[in-house]
Amino acid sequence: MAKIDIDDVLNLPLETESQEEAKGKKLPSVMEGRLKVYDAKANNVQRFIKLLTERINRHLASSMVGCVHCGMCAESCHYALTRPDDPTMTPVYKADQIRRIFKRHMDWTGRIFPWWVHADTPKNDRDLNRLKNIVFGTCSACRRCTLNCPMGVDTALLIRLARGILTELGIVPEGVFNVSRDTWETGNQMGVSEEDYLETLDWMKEELQEELGDPDIDIPVDKEGCDFMYTINPREIKFDPRSIADAAKIFHFAGETWTMPSWGWDQTNFGLYSGDDNMGAFVAKNLYEAAVKLRAKRIVISECGHGYRSTRWEGYNWAEYSQNIPTESVILTLMRYIKAGRIRVDPSKNQDSVTFHDSCNVARSGDLVEEPRWILKRTCSDFREMSPNRLENFCCTGGSGLLSMAEYKSLRMEVAELKAEQLKATGAKLVCTICHNCVDGLTDVIKHYELDMRVIQIIELVASALLIEK
Ligand code: SF4
Ligand code: SF4
Repeated sequence: MAKIDIDDVLNLPLETESQEEAKGKKLPSVMEGRLKVYDAKANNVQRFIKLLTERINRHLASSMVGCVHCGMCAESCHYALTRPDDPTMTPVYKADQIRRIFKRHMDWTGRIFPWWVHADTPKNDRDLNRLKNIVFGTCSACRRCTLNCPMGVDTALLIRLARGILTELGIVPEGVFNVSRDTWETGNQMGVSEEDYLETLDWMKEELQEELGDPDIDIPVDKEGCDFMYTINPREIKFDPRSIADAAKIFHFAGETWTMPSWGWDQTNFGLYSGDDNMGAFVAKNLYEAAVKLRAKRIVISECGHGYRSTRWEGYNWAEYSQNIPTESVILTLMRYIKAGRIRVDPSKNQDSVTFHDSCNVARSGDLVEEPRWILKRTCSDFREMSPNRLENFCCTGGSGLLSMAEYKSLRMEVAELKAEQLKATGAKLVCTICHNCVDGLTDVIKHYELDMRVIQIIELVASALLIEK
């Protein structure tokens, strides 16, 4: 396959259609001061440097100064491994584009001897746009390089820092602008209206009642004092409502008291991807406040990698909100049911061979590695590991919001070759992931490389393995 000319990616234009449209319009009041639109007349370079100076903390500074340029990280990045002759794909190159600005303005060596430490500064908006294309278009923030860096440099953290500052200046890819707009306007990243949300829950409830011949099966909304409040990814409403029905079915047979909130139900958080902490706080706080209002004893997060990371811990920091209510992935809820005998499962009901894809935000950046495997071994008759796995797994290629940035898809598909080979080598018919984002990322890889497999999630496997006594 012909390699993509990386200059085509780095020179993608600054101004996009949606931004142009937004400029002529008065934004709804809910977005005023929140959704940032690019202003060509502003001194964006100066604003970038000011924000960089304000946002540097000890954690970021250690990744700024800790790099010894050994190059070991190149061997861990799927971009660099798939394009071995392209130095711009190495994690160290990408981080250096941010690091050199830090050195020029904040580090004494770079201020005195810029030529010596390769310190530099963006000169105009074109340079900022190039940086935008690097930090949004050539890194999926998977943090595999951090795991393999002897100095513990967190390149993805620097990428997020730069993304956040560029978002503040409105210098963002089209998809990031659109998703940010939808999130500020509707409280969820896919712009799902309250009416569509409630109608879909109702529809799934009716389907379940019909399927199981039981008019008592419910998908409760805004019920107070339940054992837990269940929160989902908007993708489930828009493209995969069956996953909500599967969850409701399992909760029903486990004898659970649960509810979904009518507001604050989006457990995903585009703020993690765009680097916008204010948006991160807004989305997370909606959810935490809904749980308090409904007096839920626990918050349960459906299968989603970045949603898990955002809702389980990052969101509490962004929103400066005390974590008084336990917050867990539905994977733990399912494990509890099986362990306590609240549901019974039969692995012979899932005969197809299944492999497992560890999502970056759940495994490498999170804490759920063995738990999904524990469930898979009890619900599937042929479970096989892919290699490498667990913390060393490769990204689905769609992490960090890349699925919403169509302009970078060709590069993403090129570097997906590694993931395609990894999937193919398992010989499995199904690849299971506990992340809705990975479902779409992996589906793109499977389609592009014409692999004979499909993506599935644990909730579907557990629902189909469920033993229902008449
Ligand atoms: S492995 Fe770490 S120290 Fe070495 S070049 Fe990469 S980021 Fe720098
Ligand atoms: S975070 Fe992942 S995609 Fe980004 S540079 Fe590191 S290894 Fe590559």
